[in-house]
Amino acid sequence: KDAKEAPLTKEEVGRATWMLLHTIAAQFPDEPTRQQKRDAKELMHIISRLYPCKECADHFKEVLKANPVQAGSQAEFSQWLCYVHNVVNRSIGKPIFPCQRVAARWAVGDQEMKRPSVLIFLISA
Ligand code: FAD
Repeated sequence: KDAKEAPLTKEEVGRATWMLLHTIAAQFPDEPTRQQKRDAKELMHIISRLYPCKECADHFKEVLKANPVQAGSQAEFSQWLCYVHNVVNRSIGKPIFPCQRVAARWAVGDQEMKRPSVLIFLISA
């Protein structure tokens, strides 16, 4: 069988969620607007309420209380996210990730994420 059967495991949902969050942080503007800063903060708080694993969500609420979201710039948001991901890693016995490597780990390739503009370029060329 090609497709994996449901249900998803806690690990799969966790990996997918961290992938989305770190990718959002990697693409976050260097100089975000007030709305973008608010959105980043809201996103993290919504996840702490709706995350589909109750013990994870409850723990993450405490993590956010102790470490308020910092989204003043791309670098600040991705370093903050790396830090809180490490708080979760530590609490479940996973290795600590070196945050100086966060930009390299979560760099988004032009080909992968910017296909529409490549297409527009090809069409208009
Ligand atoms: P993940 O932790 O999913 O990480 C994915 C990849 O991100 C790694 O392979 C690595 O390349 C990279 N990475 C790792 N650490 C960092 C970092 N600090 N910064 C940047 N990149 C990094 N599971 C529980 O069992 N209990 C919980 O309480 C719990 N709480 C969670 C709370 C949230 C908000 C989320 C999103 C997930 C939570 N999980 C929890 C799931 C858990 O964090 C993992 O996602 C899951 O165990 C799978 O782990 P993994 O080894 O595949 O790597």
